[in-house]
Amino acid sequence: MSQPWQVELVGIGSVVPSLLRTLREDLAGILVRPVWISTSHIDPMPFFDPRRGQYAAHSILERLLQPPPKENVQRIGITELDLFLPVFTHVFGAAQLGGPVGLASLYRLRPEFEGSLPDLDRTHERLLKEVLHELGHTLALIHCRIPWCAMGASRLPGHVDLKDSAFCNPCADRIGVPINGLQLFDENP
Ligand SMILES: [Zn+2]
Ligand SMILES: [Zn+2]
Repeated sequence: MSQPWQVELVGIGSVVPSLLRTLREDLAGILVRPVWISTSHIDPMPFFDPRRGQYAAHSILERLLQPPPKENVQRIGITELDLFLPVFTHVFGAAQLGGPVGLASLYRLRPEFEGSLPDLDRTHERLLKEVLHELGHTLALIHCRIPWCAMGASRLPGHVDLKDSAFCNPCADRIGVPINGLQLFDENP
């Protein structure tokens, strides 16, 4: 339970600063360990694929490895851009399984993408769940079958809404996160 990992958030392209700040606070509350927003910033233009009109998630992940994160730092990129992986039409995010870098995109998580009215609370919530999911992959968690767990697979934004902003007990235990964001302590009988 004493794995010393921490989380660094890096903006890719322009990201609304208040979104990053709220994300940082929410993550720190759930993970109960240091989470900070990096001052460095990545220019996404080299990763734009003009044929697809999207940005290459796998190439951005490689870029996130430079300079290499310090040991025990999980570096998660946050972007407003539409991401793809070669075998998928789009992805909400991507991560190195058991590696130090992950990536999450707001592009398709915003309710307005599906023609709904903008809903900032829902956008924040979906981004938080997506970041927890990709962070879990960087810590070697694979997809989980417990329906509400953040490690459940999501292909549609509606799937993201069905999950909680939390890891189920076995997932939380594997990565050393307090269950449901609560510090548990022994109660003497
Ligand atoms: Zn996944
Ligand atoms: Zn789980």
